[in-house]
Amino acid sequence: MTTVSISLNEIYDLAKKTLLFNGCDEENASILSDTIMRAERDGSHSHGLFRLPAYISSLKSKKVNGKARPELKKISSSVIKVFGNNAFAPMVLKVGLPELIKLAKETGVAVLAITNSHHMAAMWPETEAIAESGLVGFACTSYMPMVAPAGAREALFGTNPISFAWPRPGKTPVVYDMATSAMAMGDVMVAARDGKKVPLGTGLNKDGKETTNPKEIIKGSGGVLLPFGGYKGSGIAMMVELLAGALVGETFSYETAQKDNKDGGPPSGGEFILAISPEKIAGPDWSKHADNFFDKMKSMDGVRLPGERRHKNRLNTEPRNINKELLEKINNLSK
Ligand code: NDP
Repeated sequence: MTTVSISLNEIYDLAKKTLLFNGCDEENASILSDTIMRAERDGSHSHGLFRLPAYISSLKSKKVNGKARPELKKISSSVIKVFGNNAFAPMVLKVGLPELIKLAKETGVAVLAITNSHHMAAMWPETEAIAESGLVGFACTSYMPMVAPAGAREALFGTNPISFAWPRPGKTPVVYDMATSAMAMGDVMVAARDGKKVPLGTGLNKDGKETTNPKEIIKGSGGVLLPFGGYKGSGIAMMVELLAGALVGETFSYETAQKDNKDGGPPSGGEFILAISPEKIAGPDWSKHADNFFDKMKSMDGVRLPGERRHKNRLNTEPRNINKELLEKINNLSK
C-alpha cells in the first residue's frame, strides 16, 4: 500500500474543505472534521478519512443534512432526547452530551436517547467525554444487518458496538469500545483483499457452514458474520438492538436497511447513552478503590487496559501515513 504522510492539521483541513464543498455549513463541517482527525490521531483508522467518501455520497443524495440543527428535548429530570434531524452524529453529540453530563451529576444517573442521526462511527469519543467529566459512560448503537443471531444462517443484527468508559480523575479514563460481531466487517474485507484467512467462528458461507475464507463472508457473498462468543455475544447484540432501537424510539437494524436509500452512505439510526455518577452512588472513595483494581490488573503479565493503545497513539503528534489512493479519491470530491 502506498501512503502519503500528512499532519493532523492537514487531515482536519482536508476533511473540512471536502465537507464544506459538498454542502455542510461551517459548524457541521468543523465538528465532523474534528471527529475524523481524532480517529486518525488515535489510530481508529476505519473511522477516519476512510469514511469521508461515503459521507459525501449521503450529502449528495440529501440523506444527510449538512446544515442540520439537532433538537434537544428534556423528557424528565434524568432523560433527554436529541432528534438528530438527519445530522451526522458528532453534531448530535455536541448538543446532547453537555446536558447529559449536567443531569447525571445532579441526579446520579441520566440517559440520552438519540434518533434520526447518521453514523455513530467509533463510540469512544462519547463515552470518553463522559468519563473525562468524572462519570461512568456507556453507549451502544445498531446499524445494518450483517450478523446472524446464534443458531441462524442469515443476518439480523448489525455489528452493534458497545463502549464503556471509567473515569480516573487526574488520569486518562479506561475505555473499551468494540463491535459485538466476531470481527468488524471492515477487517474481514481487508483480509479478503489481502488473500488472508480469518479465524473459524468469524462467519458462515452462503451454505451456512463456518469458513475461514473472508471472501465467503463479506457483503454480497451470501455469507454472514457471527457474533463474538457464540450465544453470549448474540445476547449482547440483541440487547443493543433493543436499547438503541426500541428503547430510544428508533429502528432495528433490519428496519434501518429497509428504509435506507442505498446511496452507499450511513443510514439514519439511533444511539443509547448512559451516564452514571460514582461519587453519588459509591461515595468519595470510589476512585482510589477502582485504581487499586486497575493496578492489580496491570500487575499481571500480558495484561493491558483497553484504550491504552489509542491513548499512546494520541501522544504522537507526528504526521500520519494515509493511503494514497484514498487521498486522491477525497481530493477529487471537491473538484
Ligand atoms: P477492537 O477489537 O480493535 O478493540 C475492541 C476493544 O478492545 C478496544 O477498546 C481495544 O482497546 C481493546 N483491546 C484490544 N486488544 C486488547 C488487548 N490485548 N488487551 C486489552 N484490551 C484490548 O475493536 P472492534 O474491531 O471491535 O471495533 C472497532 C471500532 O469500530 C470501535 O470503535 C467500534 O465502536 C467501531 N464500530 C462502529 C460501528 C457503528 O455502527 N458505528 C459498528 C462496529 C464497530 P484499544 O483501542 O486501546 O486497542
